[in-house]
Amino acid sequence: MQLASLGYGPFFSDSFESLARPDLVPARVTSHRGAHLLVAGAGAGAQRAEPSGRLRHELSSVELPAVGDWVALAPGARPDDLAIIHHVLPRRTALLRRAAGTRGEAQVVAANVDTFLVVTSANRDANPRRLERYLAAIAESGADAIVVINKADLCTADELAAVAAPLEASARGLPVVSVSAATGAGLAALAGAIRPGHTIALVGMSGVGKSSLVNRLLGDQRQAVAAIDDNDRGRHATTRRELMVLPGGGELPGGGVLIDTPGMRELGLAEDHGGVAASFDDVLDTARACRFRDCRHAGEPGCAVATAVDDGALDPDRVASFHKLEREVAAAERRANPVLAARAKQRWKAVHQAQRARKKVDPKLGT
Ligand code: GDP
Ligand code: ZN
Repeated sequence: MQLASLGYGPFFSDSFESLARPDLVPARVTSHRGAHLLVAGAGAGAQRAEPSGRLRHELSSVELPAVGDWVALAPGARPDDLAIIHHVLPRRTALLRRAAGTRGEAQVVAANVDTFLVVTSANRDANPRRLERYLAAIAESGADAIVVINKADLCTADELAAVAAPLEASARGLPVVSVSAATGAGLAALAGAIRPGHTIALVGMSGVGKSSLVNRLLGDQRQAVAAIDDNDRGRHATTRRELMVLPGGGELPGGGVLIDTPGMRELGLAEDHGGVAASFDDVLDTARACRFRDCRHAGEPGCAVATAVDDGALDPDRVASFHKLEREVAAAERRANPVLAARAKQRWKAVHQAQRARKKVDPKLGT
């Protein structure tokens, strides 16, 4: 296995080199069950690994190695020994979600995905609000997104256009492509994302055809992958590989990397540092014209968002979706860490006060 085919490139090799640890090697986490990880690197196939005691002690749950992470590890002395992970290399992207049924603590669904395929189905009501939720989480992760309308074989061109229109409105310029996992039609449009060294992942509601798409992308390799992991050193037989190198075939070049974790199937927004804003730039652009800087667009006088909705310039459902996601993010952040949230607020308050003070001294520093 070549490191490059697993997605290794300058972004990660620069961090690895800067560690200056000739005793360690780079590897990528391919699956994750509790403290036990499978990693792949140059040379031999999958290897079992675990974070060093120091990492487990120092890193928070979202910082610990997740599927897709690049790590620096000390290989086990003998083939059956656990490799020890000493560093998690800085992530290019990280998709977070709130852990189900817990205090809203965030989990990393997948690290270092380059492009998410957000899959919907042509024969069911494709919900633009749900799409906005996915796109906001993906924008927040730092990755690109392509909206994929699957099951195009079940529709006429006119029907397909009718399904695509509202999704295109929510996609804000991101590509929207129609494909069929059943016939392979349209998959060539994904060749830009599914290419050597580039990491993709599929998200979307169940039933839209994600597994069918994955099977098509994997060709007959899926069986082979399962067979390798079933023989994976006895008692760890149930560990499933969640990061795979695609073989290519048909219209697609080989060598793309696919991440398919159980957590990928269900997403909530955990944190937001601009993902919601990036997905709702039209609402935020409009909101700049609101009379009050902190307008909540909930009936305040001089609200430009309300005017735009009245004029038909903004879709009221889209504005509601924006509010809902913002509330959800705020609630998740408060639940996840009330102390941190309060501290962050204080810090920003101090920053803003300092800015205001500077502006008074030098009016040229205005907004
Ligand atoms: P998942 O839950 O998103 O993984 O969806 P599946 O891959 O399990 O697919 C759900 C159902 O849709 C299955 O019965 C598939 O055979 C069917 N399906 C998936 N892709 C297509 C497609 O492109 N065309 C048609 N006609 N059916 C499809
Ligand atoms: Zn307003």
